[in-house]
Amino acid sequence: MALIVKKFGGTSVGTVDKIKNVGERVKATLEKGNDVVVVLSAMSGDTNRLIGLANEASSRALGTPAYDMILSSGEQVSIGLLALALSEMGIEATPMLGWQVPIVTDSMNCSARISEIKTEGILGELKKGRVVIVAGFQGVDPEGHITTLGRGGSDTTAVAIAAAIKADLCEIYTDVDGVFTTDPSICKEARKIEKISYDEMLEMASLGAKVLQTRSVEFAKKYDVPLMVRSSFSDREGTLVCKEDKEMEKVAVSGITYNKNEAKISVVRVPDRPGIAAMLFKPLTEKGINVDMIVQNISHAGHTDMTFTVLKEDYPRAFDIVKEIADDIEAENVDGNTDIAKISIVGAGMRSHAGVASLMFETLSGNGVNIQMISTSEIKVSCIIDETQTEKAVEVLHKAFELGKNEVKEEVGI
Ligand code: ADP
Ligand code: ASP
Ligand code: MG
Repeated sequence: MALIVKKFGGTSVGTVDKIKNVGERVKATLEKGNDVVVVLSAMSGDTNRLIGLANEASSRALGTPAYDMILSSGEQVSIGLLALALSEMGIEATPMLGWQVPIVTDSMNCSARISEIKTEGILGELKKGRVVIVAGFQGVDPEGHITTLGRGGSDTTAVAIAAAIKADLCEIYTDVDGVFTTDPSICKEARKIEKISYDEMLEMASLGAKVLQTRSVEFAKKYDVPLMVRSSFSDREGTLVCKEDKEMEKVAVSGITYNKNEAKISVVRVPDRPGIAAMLFKPLTEKGINVDMIVQNISHAGHTDMTFTVLKEDYPRAFDIVKEIADDIEAENVDGNTDIAKISIVGAGMRSHAGVASLMFETLSGNGVNIQMISTSEIKVSCIIDETQTEKAVEVLHKAFELGKNEVKEEVGI
């Protein structure tokens, strides 16, 4: 007998029939003698609809407690519906909103971080033999305001609960069979990965593979929660996200990701003197704008160019802030480009395989894809390219690294 957390995403609860299907899965798990906590997203499309309503009511809705209150309501509906469906099947269930658990977070609206989960309520209900159904994506701050955890946040709710109640397994049910070598919706050669390390998954999620929210993988790694990503619509074995093992290092590149959600700002001919980078980036940090990739060119005649990326939604604010500072520091010009994408290759095996980055660069250039910026870490290489070439870049890289093939390769051959 095990304690299992099962999380179902938006498409898995998109209709009442699909919610009944979730009920069947819960029943099957109970019949094997397990205890079950279910975490649900809102019905697919619901969160987008709620965001639309909030923005229609006010152009300044984002960042207010009312906004989070509205957004969180989608999950209230789905957990209520599952409780009713289970009761029709003769299964007793207790639906719980974030504040009823409670899942305590900080007060950062729309991207709150979980600080504590009180487990007595959930464990008490399980002890009574009931299924507990928790609303994903939401929490409550110390002042009692409802908060939300950022888009895709139900994954984080599920993993954080699994960690708090020391569950044996956390299953993430979604609309694909598991974690793939790249997004299966844009590359038909994409292959399901059987096992992936927390670190690789963390990079893939933060670089754009939206199948898991990044924070959920951080939690899973920190608290050693075994994660299984699988389909709601088939019984096929999913992908296990777990600690790294020797096998994983044999493959240089495990996956390819893309992110079309960044924009680029270049400050042209900045005087090359100490303190300039701090002057540029400090005001951005103070306004809560995260800077991702930064490239500074070699200095020429006492001047240099500085280029960096920010999230598209932060771009207009970031551009205005940088323009003001550029005038102060006598930079020649500020340029911006929102039509970019970040393409990344990820793999724990990169630590022990040479030539991975050069194969990426050769493949892109050989296919007419111009690289605008590059950044690397121990287990990833990212390039900024023109947004219109995203799908093509993913496809040619997927081929070049032979990710469609099943066998584990010892070397990438370069
Ligand atoms: P859910 O509503 O179940 O949370 P999401 O839409 O958040 O589902 O995540 C699943 C989607 O993530 C898939 O439909 C797929 O298109 C996308 N995706 C992007 N990259 C990957 C990847 N590497 N592996 C699997 N799915 C991916
Ligand atoms: N319903 C929320 C969203 O659409 C949370 C989630 O699906 O995980 O982002
Ligand atoms: Mg999701």
